[in-house]
Amino acid sequence: MKEVTCLCGWQCRGREDEVVEQVIAHGREVHGVESSREEILTIAVDVAASAASADVRPA
Ligand SMILES: [Zn+2]
Repeated sequence: MKEVTCLCGWQCRGREDEVVEQVIAHGREVHGVESSREEILTIAVDVAASAASADVRPA
């Protein structure tokens, strides 16, 4: 899974294609900018599917 955090604090996560779609829609609707898939994947971070819940273990 991928996760993207926008500069405005908005976040989304999901499969790569889903995240790309959501970020494009968010950028267009909220910021009035067009984002490319390459730009989005540059700022996307990998997250484990099992870490989808908020229980992150302390290091
Ligand atoms: Zn935003």
